[in-house]
Amino acid sequence: MKKVWCLLLMMFGLHIAQASSLKIATLHPLLSEMAMAIGGEQVEVVDLFPANGDLHSFAPTGRQLAAAAGADMLLVCGKGIEPYLTDLSQSLSKETKIVGLGRDIPNVFLPNSQRVDPHWWNTPENMKRASRTLLREVSEAAPQHKSYFTANQKKYAADMDALTRKARLQFSRIPQERRYLITGHAALCHFCKEFGFTPITIHGISKESEGDTATLAALLKDLRNKDIRCVFTEVGASPKILEVIAEQLGVPTAPLVLDGIFPGNQQYEALFMHNVNTISKHLK
Ligand SMILES: [Zn+2]
Repeated sequence: MKKVWCLLLMMFGLHIAQASSLKIATLHPLLSEMAMAIGGEQVEVVDLFPANGDLHSFAPTGRQLAAAAGADMLLVCGKGIEPYLTDLSQSLSKETKIVGLGRDIPNVFLPNSQRVDPHWWNTPENMKRASRTLLREVSEAAPQHKSYFTANQKKYAADMDALTRKARLQFSRIPQERRYLITGHAALCHFCKEFGFTPITIHGISKESEGDTATLAALLKDLRNKDIRCVFTEVGASPKILEVIAEQLGVPTAPLVLDGIFPGNQQYEALFMHNVNTISKHLK
């Protein structure tokens, strides 16, 4: 009889353990990191984004979606960076709620444009805002762990504030007239607004679109009148056009992480500080 009770208790215990954890699928490694930071041991995180994938050409395959089966929520960046979301919502089971973590983050527009820069993760302040959205979602889905999630988010927010302070300190040494960030695709508008830089981009939002020769000539003319110290390429990619611009201006190139995908090290702190240190080193 005692054995039967033990067995029943074990089964009951197992049931409680299963019921207490949330399964969270994500479409970006930084969102996985955030989900693990806030959810801790109460969540199982499934990252659907492939290693060395390209954020702008990625769309989850049937196989990747199968890995999301039974997920309570699917975390996405939002702000239009996942154009396939409408189709995706039809492929997912009804139990899986799609949560756009960019939804509470104020829009920042591309220079002289009505287009929104979707790369909100490039500032820790926005990561903090997104973590508050995530906190609300996980607390609603598993209210029994609300205080645990809240404590985790508080620590996460403090970590993000520390990164913002570090960046501000380093950037305080960069003279006002050198505060231009020339990049290939428009990914630093949030960053520039937060830290007081002016973004100058060669392409639009995605990496594929090319500027025409006349535009390039006009851009070069404009850049020669500015105190440009560096042209910023992207880790893992160095478009020829950026090298040409750097050569024409007689300045070096240096790689930044723009899409939040840092090969070999996916941690936010490392990639954000890589950007801060690289910018600081070349513009101060
Ligand atoms: Zn991008």
